[in-house]
Amino acid sequence: MTSTNALPAAATLDAFASTKLAGLERSELRRRLVETDGHDAVRVEQDGRALLNFCSNDYLGLSRHPGVIAAAQAAAARYGTGSGASRLVTGGHPLLFELEACLARFKGSEDCIVFGSGYLANLAIAPALTGSGDLILIDELAHACLFAGAQLSRARVETFRHNDLGDLESKLADLRPEARRAMILTDGVFSMDGDLAPLPGLLALADRFDAWALVDDAHGVGVVASGRGSAHAFNPPALAPLQMGTLSKSLGSYGGYLCASSAVCELLRTRARPLVFTTAPAPASIAAALQALALIQTDTALCQRPTALARRFCAAAGLPEPVSPIVPVILGSASAALEASSRLREAGFLVTAIRPPTVPRGTARLRITFSAAHDEADIDRLAALISAWTPQYEAAE
Ligand SMILES: *Cc1c(COP(=O)(O)O)cnc(C)c1O
Repeated sequence: MTSTNALPAAATLDAFASTKLAGLERSELRRRLVETDGHDAVRVEQDGRALLNFCSNDYLGLSRHPGVIAAAQAAAARYGTGSGASRLVTGGHPLLFELEACLARFKGSEDCIVFGSGYLANLAIAPALTGSGDLILIDELAHACLFAGAQLSRARVETFRHNDLGDLESKLADLRPEARRAMILTDGVFSMDGDLAPLPGLLALADRFDAWALVDDAHGVGVVASGRGSAHAFNPPALAPLQMGTLSKSLGSYGGYLCASSAVCELLRTRARPLVFTTAPAPASIAAALQALALIQTDTALCQRPTALARRFCAAAGLPEPVSPIVPVILGSASAALEASSRLREAGFLVTAIRPPTVPRGTARLRITFSAAHDEADIDRLAALISAWTPQYEAAE
């Protein structure tokens, strides 16, 4: 390839990118894409090295399930590989409508809309429902795409302290009166910490202050409350009016969704830009998700296994009991997390270091996730390794 630097503006562009990269490298925040070849749900290969994957979100191994793969293959044969247009033009293949009906039944909502990804769903929801003059309160540890959607909406965006209902209440009391409409945004299961949002209290505050709660259950469905999701970790279930999720994690496919009332879903079908101006998801992805959803609704033992394995791991490693398959081992600096990750790699475990801005500065970590496809013996080996050198472990003793 010839260099593009012949043109003056291209040269300043490359200089900008190189300087930025060098800065990120110095602070150990540069990230790299690594080719990863998967052999099954947990066995992968990187740079010719066989590794056990302990950082995937394919919690149930369904991306490798023969029935799910067969459904995707049949859909590609019947409907083609791409959907060819936006849902509102001609992209609305029958499987999308079928999946929306199944998800609405599963979540107990009137209606559902499927999006191209979970990220796109969250870019769609807040901007369709709020604008300038409105208020969005968001948990400080909520997923980046909830923040991105909030920012796009042009509403006033304020964070509240993680899972702190007192802080949420005082911010609502201060800021709600001057806002026209208000939303509260939170993860159901926090993606980097694995803890649950206090949904019953949060929904009670939302009702008291007339604020619309959006709960992102990307890490709840399939693995929490026997697969039913974080709302069902409470009795009675804590059902937010806006229940968002992804097809890309325990469902083993790709896509996102919102379950809500008919009125809300109809408004989004007309107004949500990440639905209107993007091509509909591929038929194979939707067929895979349909098949996976059917499995999740029938195989409770499968859905219980990832969190049970996380509990086994934490008991062996001396870590607090987890409520989901996500176990954070917080190490502090980016370099400590990178070093821990590379030591695990030496021992045959793939646990990618999680650094800012994915997590707050000073809380870089290993984020260990458990899959139904893991073996107990491998989990015990990993626990022995972690407990041998984790400072947090010694502190917890
Ligand atoms: C992964 C994730 C998303 C994004 O979903 P994709 O389908 O991967 O785009 C949204 N919210 C949370 C909490 C996530 O962890």
